[in-house]
Amino acid sequence: MTAITIRIRGLVQGVGFRPFIWHLATELGITGSVRNDGEGVRIDAWGESETLERFRLLITAQPPPLARIDALEQMAGDMAARPDQFVIAASDCSTSIHATPVTPDAALCPACMAEIHTPSSRFFDYPFTSCTHCGPRLSIVRATPYDRANTSMAPFPMCASCQREYDDPANRRFHAQAHACPACGPSIWLEDASGRRSDTETATAILDRTAALLSQGLILAIKGTGGIQLAVDATNHAAVTRLRRLKQRYDKPFALMGRDIAAIACHASVTPAEAELLSSAAAPIVLLAPHPQQSKNTHRPLATAIAPGQSRLGFMLPNSPLHSLLMARLQHPIVLTSGNRSDEPQCIDNSDARDHLAGIADHFLLHNRDIVNRLDDSVVTFMAEAPRLLRRARGYAPSPLLLHHSFARCGHILAMGSEMKNTFCQLSGREAILSQHTGDLEHAATRHDYHHALELYRQLFAFNPACIAIDQHPDYLSGRIGTDMAGQERIPLLPIQHHHAHIAAVMAEHQLPLDSKPVLGIALDGLGFGSDGTLWGGEFLLADYCHYKRLACFQPVPMPGGTQAIREPWRNCFAHLHAAGWDDISRRFSDTDIIRFLHTRPLPVLHRMIEQGINTPASSSCGRLFDAVAAALAICRHQVSYEGQAAIELEHLARSAWSRHTPAYPYRLERHADTLQIIHWQPMWQALLNDLQQQLPVAEIAARFHRTLSHVITALAQQLCHSHATAIVVLCGGAFQNRLLLEAVTADLADKTPQLLIAGQTPLNDGGLALGQAAIAAATQWTKGAQHD
Ligand SMILES: [Zn+2]
Ligand SMILES: [Zn+2]
Repeated sequence: MTAITIRIRGLVQGVGFRPFIWHLATELGITGSVRNDGEGVRIDAWGESETLERFRLLITAQPPPLARIDALEQMAGDMAARPDQFVIAASDCSTSIHATPVTPDAALCPACMAEIHTPSSRFFDYPFTSCTHCGPRLSIVRATPYDRANTSMAPFPMCASCQREYDDPANRRFHAQAHACPACGPSIWLEDASGRRSDTETATAILDRTAALLSQGLILAIKGTGGIQLAVDATNHAAVTRLRRLKQRYDKPFALMGRDIAAIACHASVTPAEAELLSSAAAPIVLLAPHPQQSKNTHRPLATAIAPGQSRLGFMLPNSPLHSLLMARLQHPIVLTSGNRSDEPQCIDNSDARDHLAGIADHFLLHNRDIVNRLDDSVVTFMAEAPRLLRRARGYAPSPLLLHHSFARCGHILAMGSEMKNTFCQLSGREAILSQHTGDLEHAATRHDYHHALELYRQLFAFNPACIAIDQHPDYLSGRIGTDMAGQERIPLLPIQHHHAHIAAVMAEHQLPLDSKPVLGIALDGLGFGSDGTLWGGEFLLADYCHYKRLACFQPVPMPGGTQAIREPWRNCFAHLHAAGWDDISRRFSDTDIIRFLHTRPLPVLHRMIEQGINTPASSSCGRLFDAVAAALAICRHQVSYEGQAAIELEHLARSAWSRHTPAYPYRLERHADTLQIIHWQPMWQALLNDLQQQLPVAEIAARFHRTLSHVITALAQQLCHSHATAIVVLCGGAFQNRLLLEAVTADLADKTPQLLIAGQTPLNDGGLALGQAAIAAATQWTKGAQHD
C-alpha cells in the first residue's frame, strides 16, 4: 500500500475533470479524494503502487475532451490518513489564487448530439442541451466564480431530474453549469418581422417551420452561441444576393454551415486534418478549397455570390444543439453571417436584433437565454502544412497560451492590442490569455464590447496589471484607453513598435525564452507606426523580446490622401509609378490601360500633394504595394469594399497561372546610411508594365509579382541571417495570410534556414499583436528588475 499526492495544472477546472478522476479511481479501487484548488486539481490517493502507476498513466492518456494537462507532479502522500472510499471534495479556497477559470464555449458533444436526435430521450429536439463536455461557457458568464448564479442560466432553476444529474458524480452532467431540459430551461420561439410570435408551438414545430422558411429563400435572424446571425439557403442565388444588398455587404465572403462533413465535402475538398478541425470542440470556420465549378456532383451548386474573388470557402459544422437540429432538417448548406449592417459588431440582444436587423431579416428565431459576451466565429486555415488561426474567438478564447518557463517570474501585464481586429492580452507568469476578437475599435459598439471584455477578464482571472503595453501609434484608441488606465492606476506604460510586437507574438507562441537570442523577423502588413514617425509595413527586423533593429524595408512610398489611399488602390498605383519615375513611365507605357486610366484622375493635384508632402504620409507598406499592383491589373482599381480585398483577389488571380517555373521580376537593393537596405521596385514596375504592354495575361503578371516578393524575402532572409548570425526566421503580419506567398516563401526557405517560425495559435494579422506587446513588456520589466537586483 502506498500514498501519493498528484497535482495537475492546465485547463482542468470546469471541464469535468473531478468526476473523470473519481470514475478512474473508483474503477481501480483507489481510495482518497480529488479537489480543485488555486493551482489546478489536487488528488490524494491510496492504493497498491502498480495500481497508482496505472492510475497516473490513465489520467494523462485519456483526459476529458475539454481538458488540457500542462503539468503533472507526484509527491509522497500521508500513509496514516488513509480513507476507505474515493470522494470529490469541496474546493480548497484557502490557497485559491483565482476561482475556477472560465473555459471556451464548446460545440455539442457526440453524447448530447445523440440525445437531441433520439425521440425517446428527454432531450429530444431540445436546443439547449449540454453537459460537462460541451456547451456555452464564456458567452454566458457575467462574473466569477463560474457557477450558474453568475451566468445567464441564473433565471432557470433546475427541475428535480436535472438537479439529480447535476449532483451525481457518475453523471456526465455533474456540475455542468448550463444543464437544463425542456421542463426547466430556456426556450426558442419564431417571430416575424412585425414581432408577431406564436407561443404555443413546440420546439419541434418551430424548428420545422424555420427550416421551411429557409428553404423558401427567406432571410432568418438566428440567435446562436455568441451572437445573432443572418441565415439564408446557400444554394439560392437570389436569396444570397438579396442578403448582400440588404446588409450592404457587397463583396466580403460569407461563411457557410454544412450539416456534416459529407455535406461539406459535396462543395469543397476536406482533408482528414481539416475534418478533425471542423469537428473539434472549438468548431471554427475552416477555409477550404472549393471543388471546381461544373464538377460532376449531383447536388445543387452554391450561389456564386457567396465568395466572389476568393480561393477558399469558409465552412463550419453546427456548433450548438440549435444549429444541429436545424441543419438536420435542411437539404443544403446555409450562409451564416454576423447579424449586423455592414461592418458593425453582430447583435447579441433580442431587442437590438429587432431594431438593427429590421428590413433585413424576414423572421427571427430567438430564445430567452442572454448572450452575455459577444463571440464571433473563429476562422482557421491550413497553410504551410499547419492550421493557422485567422480570427480567434468562439471555441478558443479565453484558453491560455503557455509561454516558455522563463516567463514564470513575470508579473501581471495587460497589453491593449491593435486598432483593427483588436484583441487584448493578459499575461501572468507563463500564461497569456488572449481575449476574443473584438474587432475594429473605430465602431462605438466595438469599443463598448472592448471595455466590457476588459472589465470581465480582469474579474474572471483576478488580474491586476503591474504594467500596460500599447502600440506606439499616437491615434490608436486602444493606446489612448491604455494610457488613461495606466495614469489612473499609476502603473508604468510601455509603447511598443507595431512590427516588433508582431515578431514577439510568434516568438512567444513558439515558447522562445525570455532571454532569447535575436531572430530575423519579417513583418509584412498593411500599416504600423514606425519608430521614425513614418508608417511601416514591409519590415526585416533583427529582434529579441527587448530590442529590435531595422535591417531592411520596402521602399517608402507616399500614400496620397492618407486613409483615402487605403480605400482607393489606384492612388497607390500612381504613387508607386511616381516613385519609379512617372514622366518616363507614362510616356513609354502610354498605350496601357492603367496609364490611360490614371490620366483620367486629377494627377496635377496628386503631384503637388506628393511633392509638397500634403496629406501623403510615406509608407513602406506591403499591403499598399499589393494595392498598387492590383490596380495596375484592373483589380479593385477604383476602390475596395473591405480591408485586404485587392490583395485577396490578386492572389486568387495569380493562383490560376502559378507554376514552378513562374519567373520573378527584377528589383533593386540599395544601402541606406550603411545599416539599412531598401528594396526598390522601379525595375519591377518597368518589367510589369512591359508585360501589360505585350498583353501577357494578367493572371501570369499577378503570379510573377508573387514570385518577385517570395524571391526578395528568401534572398534577404538568407543574406541577413548570414550577416547577423541568426538561426531563426519569423514570418508575420497580415500579408502572410496570402497562402500563395506564405507557401512559396516557406518552400524556398525550408532547406536554407535552420528554423522558420510562423504563427498558428494566434492570428498572423493584428489579432495576434497583443500577445507580442505583452511578451515584450514582460521581458522589458523583467530585465529592468534584474538590473535593480
Ligand atoms: Zn455534451
Ligand atoms: Zn430540467
